[in-house]
Amino acid sequence: MPYPDAAAFGDLSVLARLTEELDRFNAFEGPDPAGRNRAAWTEHLGTRLPQEGAGLEAVLEDLRKWIVPNGLRNGHPGFSGWVTTSPTTSGTAAALASTVAGSQRVWIHTFNYLEKLSLDWLKQLLGFPENWHGTYTTGGSSANLIALGAARQWAVEQQGFDPSMTGLPAHLKWRIYASSEVHHVVNRAAAVLGIGRRNVIGVPVNSAGEIDPDALQQRIAADRKEGFLPMAIIATAGTVNTGAIDPISRLRAIADEESTWLHVDGAYGMFGILDDRVRERYDGVAEADSVALDPHKWMAAPVGNGVAMVRDRDLMGRAFTLEPAAYLEGSMGQQDEVVASPFDGFGEILHEFNLDQSAPSRGVQVWAILREIGKSGMTDRVKRHNGFARHLSALVEKDPYLEQLAPVVLSICCFRYVHPDLDESQLNELNRQLMAALRAEGDLVPSSTILDGKLAIRPCYVNPRTRLEDVDLLATRAREIGDALAQRLKESPTR
Ligand SMILES: *Cc1c(COP(=O)(O)O)cnc(C)c1O
Repeated sequence: MPYPDAAAFGDLSVLARLTEELDRFNAFEGPDPAGRNRAAWTEHLGTRLPQEGAGLEAVLEDLRKWIVPNGLRNGHPGFSGWVTTSPTTSGTAAALASTVAGSQRVWIHTFNYLEKLSLDWLKQLLGFPENWHGTYTTGGSSANLIALGAARQWAVEQQGFDPSMTGLPAHLKWRIYASSEVHHVVNRAAAVLGIGRRNVIGVPVNSAGEIDPDALQQRIAADRKEGFLPMAIIATAGTVNTGAIDPISRLRAIADEESTWLHVDGAYGMFGILDDRVRERYDGVAEADSVALDPHKWMAAPVGNGVAMVRDRDLMGRAFTLEPAAYLEGSMGQQDEVVASPFDGFGEILHEFNLDQSAPSRGVQVWAILREIGKSGMTDRVKRHNGFARHLSALVEKDPYLEQLAPVVLSICCFRYVHPDLDESQLNELNRQLMAALRAEGDLVPSSTILDGKLAIRPCYVNPRTRLEDVDLLATRAREIGDALAQRLKESPTR
C-alpha cells in the first residue's frame, strides 16, 4: 500500500457481496430486527474513533452483518406510514452509477445532461409548461424553500428592492398564506427566509381539508389594513394528513387579484394529476408561479430527491445566484459545441438556482425510473394506490366497528376502530394501542394523525411493493386487534 490512508479503490466487484445482502434485506423476511436488536448493534457499532483502520473487508463485514440487516424497512409491502418508501431497482442503480461516475452534477457529462432532460420529462409527465425552470433539491423541504425564495425575490422586487443583494427592507411587513393543513416545512422556510414562522397564516379549511378561499380573501384584506403585504399564496396539492387538494385555480384567481405569487406544494400529491378520477382538482397548476414535488415519494426514487420548479428562470437565478468567482467561472474555458475537455464548461448550469454548490446527480434517478416504466407505469402506480385507499374506504364503510375520518382523495385513507361502549378518550387510547400493536407485529405499518381530536390510523399508499392483500389485511387486523383491545378496556375501564 503506497499511501498511508490505505483506502481501497478500483475493485467495485466487492459490491456483489453487498447486493446479495441487500436483496435479502429487501425480501423483508421474518420480524423486523432493528428495534429489538438495538442494544446489540449499538454495542457493536458504537466504538470510539478507530486510530488504525480496520480495512475494507471489515467495513463490508459490518455492512453485511450488522448495518443492512438492521436497516429501515419502509419499503416493506405492508409499510404505509407517513409519505415514504424505499427506492426501486432502477433508481437504486442510477444512484450507484452517479455516485461513482457522476459524482458532481456540474461540468459536461451525461449525468449533467440528464439533470435537465429528466426535468423536461417531469414537465411533460405532469403537464407543466415546457419553459418552466426546475432544479433538483434534497427533498420537499428545500424545494419549498427555493420556491418561496423565488417568491420573496419577486415580491420584494415589486416594491423596488432586491432582497438577494440588500436583504429585506425593514419598513415592509410580509405574510404568506396557506391552509391550516400546510406542511410545517413551509413555516420553516419562512423562518429561514426572514419572513418568520408566525407570518405564515394558516387559513381555515372546510370539512374536506381544503382551504376556504373566502376566509383567505378576508384575511388578506384585514392584514393589508394592518400594513402586511402578501408575499405568496400556497396551495397544497395533497396534504400529508388526508391528501386534500386546495382549489388551485381559485387560488390562482385570488393571487392575480392580489398581485401575488402562487406556489403549489405538491411534494406528495403532484403525481395524483395522472389519475383521471382527480385530475381536474389540479386545474390551474400550470398557471402557478412555482411548484414543489418529491420524486422520492410516489416515484420511489432514492431519498434525497426533490424538485422545485419556477416559471421565471431569471428571477430564480437572481434569488439564488452564487455570483461568479475566480475559483469557478474564472477557471472555465469556452462552452463551445465541441469541447476539448468536459471541464471546459459547467454544462447545464445548476448551482445558480439552488442552495448547493457541490451536489449529487439526481436527475439520472428520475430519468432511470421514467425510462424503465414510462408515463404509463407511473400512471398505473398512482391509480393503483388511489384505488387502494378507495378499496380500504369501502372495507371500513362495511364494518360497523371501523369509521372513516376523512374523505379519500388520493392514496390516504384515515380511519379508526370504534365501539359503542367506549367514549372519545377511550377510543383514542384504543387506537393508539392498536397502532403500537401493528408496529410490534411489523407486517403492517401505517402511521397516524389527529383529525378533529380523533386519533386516525392513516395509511398512505406510495410504496410500489404494496399489494391489495396488504390493504385487505390492514382492515382485518385493525378490526381484530381493535376487538381485543375493546374487550380489555371494557374489563378494566380505569386504565
Ligand atoms: C413530504 C412533504 C413535504 C416535505 O418534504 P421532504 O421531502 O420530506 O423534505 C412538504 N410538503 C408536503 C405536502 C409533503 O408531502
